[in-house]
Amino acid sequence: MTTNSAPATAVATAHGYPRQGRHRELKRAIEGYWKGAVTAEALLATAAELRRENWRQLAEAGLDELPTGDFSLYDHMLDTTVAVGAIPPRHRAAVAADGLAGYFAMARGTQQAPPLEMTKWFDTNYHYLVPELGPDTAFAADPAKAVGEYLEARSLGHTARPVLIGPVSYLLLAKPAPGVAEDFQPITLLDRLLPVYAELLAALKAAGAEWVQLDEPALVQDRTPAELNAAARAYRELGGSADRPKLLVASYFDRLGEALPVLAKAPVEGLALDFTGPAAGNLADLAAVGGLPGKRLVAGVIDGRNVWINDLERSLATLGTLLGLADRVDVAPSCSLLHVPIDATAEREIDPQIARWLAFAKQKAAEAALLARGLGQGVSAITAELAANRADLASRAASPITRDPAVRARAAAVAPADTRRAQPYAVRAEVQRARLGLPLLPTTTIGSFPQTAELRVARADLAAGRIDEAAYRERMAAEVREVIAYQEKAGLDVLVHGEPERNDMVQYFAEQLTGYLATRHGWVQSYGTRYVRPPVLAGDISRPQPMTVDWYRYAQGLTDRPVKGMLTGPVTMLAWSFVRDDQPAAETARQVALALRAEVADLEAAGAAVVQVDEPALRETLPLRAAGRPAYLAWATEAFRLATSGVRADTQIHTHMCYAEFGAIMTAIEQLDADVISLEATRSHMQVAGELAEAGYPREVGPGVWDIHSPRVPSTGEALALLRAGLAAIPAERLWVNPDCGLKTRGWPETRASLDSLVAAARQLRGELAL
Ligand code: GLN
Ligand code: ZN
Repeated sequence: MTTNSAPATAVATAHGYPRQGRHRELKRAIEGYWKGAVTAEALLATAAELRRENWRQLAEAGLDELPTGDFSLYDHMLDTTVAVGAIPPRHRAAVAADGLAGYFAMARGTQQAPPLEMTKWFDTNYHYLVPELGPDTAFAADPAKAVGEYLEARSLGHTARPVLIGPVSYLLLAKPAPGVAEDFQPITLLDRLLPVYAELLAALKAAGAEWVQLDEPALVQDRTPAELNAAARAYRELGGSADRPKLLVASYFDRLGEALPVLAKAPVEGLALDFTGPAAGNLADLAAVGGLPGKRLVAGVIDGRNVWINDLERSLATLGTLLGLADRVDVAPSCSLLHVPIDATAEREIDPQIARWLAFAKQKAAEAALLARGLGQGVSAITAELAANRADLASRAASPITRDPAVRARAAAVAPADTRRAQPYAVRAEVQRARLGLPLLPTTTIGSFPQTAELRVARADLAAGRIDEAAYRERMAAEVREVIAYQEKAGLDVLVHGEPERNDMVQYFAEQLTGYLATRHGWVQSYGTRYVRPPVLAGDISRPQPMTVDWYRYAQGLTDRPVKGMLTGPVTMLAWSFVRDDQPAAETARQVALALRAEVADLEAAGAAVVQVDEPALRETLPLRAAGRPAYLAWATEAFRLATSGVRADTQIHTHMCYAEFGAIMTAIEQLDADVISLEATRSHMQVAGELAEAGYPREVGPGVWDIHSPRVPSTGEALALLRAGLAAIPAERLWVNPDCGLKTRGWPETRASLDSLVAAARQLRGELAL
């Protein structure tokens, strides 16, 4: 361990900043360009203006060293693909003809060439474009963007540090290109990629960059010894190149674990580590490896993913400990601020008593600057700010919003029996069968029907005051009537009301639950030009009144067939919101589950024989490291059961999930104890049905037979083939027929045609089975 005294100065910096602009100017410019209404020059000028404004905000917040290259017109992984020349062959001509148009062609696809696949960026709600690599991939350095943006920042007088995705993460996040063997491992291309990175680094050095940051978040996941060796080799080689800037290797979202000693030993000048949330273990790990003698440490002590003010004194204590563990300690948010909205002070409608607890990107940058000042000049330099921070934290801790005694009492009174159905599945299945009287292979949908232009207009009219609440409800009711009548005519067995009244499956409930907060400008990038405005779990959660019962009752009154009550599950309510940092997620999930449990009870009392509780996000908040997963799955499945276990035996509980990979959560699916689960399965050709059968899953399953992410209409034959594959794994008595997911993004013509195919396929199979 080194024994440095406090450095004279500590630098404040950040890994990245939101790209969209205060009024989502970037979205408007890009979408305008796609439509031909904005020229390429105008789009690039808007982008440059936004970068200038972002740097201005960061500098004004007090950052000393600004990130460059983190800005993107679509996605930073796609930018890296361009920087290393890994353009898929099918897009090469377009990229060569027009770099900008070709870039968007890779992102969005064209009639001739499908886009790159998109997938989640670790456990965030950001999505990146997956590089497609193969044994024939040839890399070539294209430093134009990295160098250009660096020079831009410098010409504005900023001290800047270019940020790139590191070579190891780039390869670990890639997948085999179409046509390449599925077991091809992109990391085997490392030796070919490193010279290209060396070239990029040399170009940045030639442009004047003193430091370059290489992001290696993939190293916070469980890695094989071979992968760790690859990381060691990568940084030995890049570190050994003569013509390079100083290297700062950054990681975030979790502990570096076994990768920490690898990077600590590497011949690079600095590491950036996350010390928040699950990554807090980096502190002890760092001490255990003897610190980073001779290196710069950029300490991510401010959570870059939540919306809460930092506990500055606690961060200062962490920074104090770190001072003894590195040559120089600088301060930053834990990861790019891309994952939080821009400015909390824009939320003028939030009660000022609550607004003082909030910190978005701009405020987090200011916190980093303040901590750097405290670290460099001593605590006495920031006494007033520390006192104000203490007062804000105290007001949050003592607020009745944060702690509602009635909610606390209900949560404390939860008994193990509340999280288990009173009867075993076999008993439930029998009484449910008797009550519902469904045919073999019952048909249903996942919940939403097309969100038509008329529905969006109605919502906009209501928001703008052009229509009143009653007129709005009547428009929604008309849609419910249409959806119910359509389903009866189409011959579906278990109906839905179509969710026309729901803008979003989380926000709709968040708006009705006490303790949840909505923001007005709190947009964060989901992918490309798509932004979401996650609600904030600000305080203890309670349900002042029923949320969905009126709509259920209305829909059920229109038909004799069963209509599903339709709710969003506790895990998804957390996953697609900003969560509290002052209590474990399990605690918040329990409160949400209790509110949902009351709703389920009210639906049951109103006559619902079937209640569906969706958990599409169960898998995505799975901890990045396997060691953290059992605890997560335990509270997540318990919260679901708490929400759903209060019902009678003859009330059928459905759940729904949609993603490709169910392997890691098979046991959890079993532990939900839902009577029926519908799952995405079309693209994987019912693979999940086999996996469930293999795991001995005893309950009813609806593996999807219509890929609703595509405008294609499945034929009856295709649906039949998928159902036959399903029947090979799941007995007919336990197989349902449904699409992969909700239909809100589809149009009515394709919906009608596709559901016709599903119903026809189910009927044909029923006929065959009856013989
Ligand atoms: N019930 C929701 C719907 O149909 C489920 C959406 C989802 O799984 N993401 O829209
Ligand atoms: Zn879904």
